[in-house]
Amino acid sequence: MAGDILFLAEFVDGRASRAAQELASGAAGLAGEAGGAAVGLAYGAGATAGAAELGRFGASRVVVLGEAGPAIGVAGAAAAAVRESQAMALLVPATPNGRDIAAALVGALDLPAFGPARGVRIVDGVVRSEQATLQGAFITVSEPVPGAPTPAVVLIPANTFTPEEGGSAEAEVSAAPSAAGGRLGEVSIVESVAAEQASVNLEEASVIVAGGRGVGGEEGFETLRQLADVLGGAVGASRAAADAGWVAYQLQIGQTGKVVKPSLYIGVGISGAIQHRVGMQTAEHVIAINKDPDAPIGEFADLFVVGDLFAIVPRLTDELRSRKR
Ligand SMILES: Cc1cc2nc3c(=O)[nH]c(=O)nc-3n(C[C@H](O)[C@H](O)[C@H](O)COP(=O)(O)OP(=O)(O)OC[C@H]3O[C@@H](n4cnc5c(N)ncnc54)[C@H](O)[C@@H]3O)c2cc1C
Repeated sequence: MAGDILFLAEFVDGRASRAAQELASGAAGLAGEAGGAAVGLAYGAGATAGAAELGRFGASRVVVLGEAGPAIGVAGAAAAAVRESQAMALLVPATPNGRDIAAALVGALDLPAFGPARGVRIVDGVVRSEQATLQGAFITVSEPVPGAPTPAVVLIPANTFTPEEGGSAEAEVSAAPSAAGGRLGEVSIVESVAAEQASVNLEEASVIVAGGRGVGGEEGFETLRQLADVLGGAVGASRAAADAGWVAYQLQIGQTGKVVKPSLYIGVGISGAIQHRVGMQTAEHVIAINKDPDAPIGEFADLFVVGDLFAIVPRLTDELRSRKR
């Protein structure tokens, strides 16, 4: 239907990812405004068995694209499902897999692309996406030009929508249409080997403890990892720390790293350079721990703790642990 809102729903280890739940609820809200339905395009381990569950978060229908192999392998099926749908928008999580699939769809189907969006609305039957540009100095609102192909593809960072469980309704589940004939259907994956270090899904973390040059080395990052563990969060890093080889590049936040939007970001031994800031500036709460009272991060942190991280972080971790007992 023309007012339908599609969303990519990734399943990991048999369960819908947090991003899938968020996008299901976001798509349901937009579909309500557009007079259509929220339709999931599900992929990953457990997608077939778990697809109907997305109904709890607002999806009316779910098309299962596939389970096996790397996520990009479902791009052909996704393109076939999108071609059949006539939907007005496709919400895509701003995760590595989401970006890969979105890029394939935009390229193969000539779709207009927007984002990373900090908000999406339907205005007079048109999709409007709101983005922070020029390091957040401007908020840009964009929409597809009249007559542009549909759906508009909108990249959505984590925590933009809140998953809302609206009861026990089950979504109607169907298999993806045949990918044959589409340009993406002609691609096959020859080999896929897991990277040495499992990728940490920083984009989905609601708490991030990020370390910079001040952390001093791999050992220092172990201290940060313990704090992240006690908070149920993930570890991130500045480029200086990643360049030094103390952590994998997958953990780098910023202009040339990942864009994150946690509820709580704790920057430890990070100066707050603009290239780092653009990757975390939409965090809801920012705490900085730095020994330099003039460090730029102090200018935009909600709480700026001036002191030696090696004295503060272990004590903070112990205190939080003891409160949990
Ligand atoms: C094109 C381009 C792209 C870039 N992309 C990125 C990017 O994606 N992400 C990114 O992060 N950077 C990026 N950078 C690099 C960026 O400009 C900064 O150089 C980098 O972010 C600095 O990292 P840092 O804050 O860890 O290090 P520094 O700037 O060296 O800061 C270290 C901080 O640690 C504090 N410190 C030291 N010891 C302690 C202690 N014991 N206790 C408490 N505090 C302590 C210091 O006071 C200092 O503030 C990019 C640069 C360019 C030119």
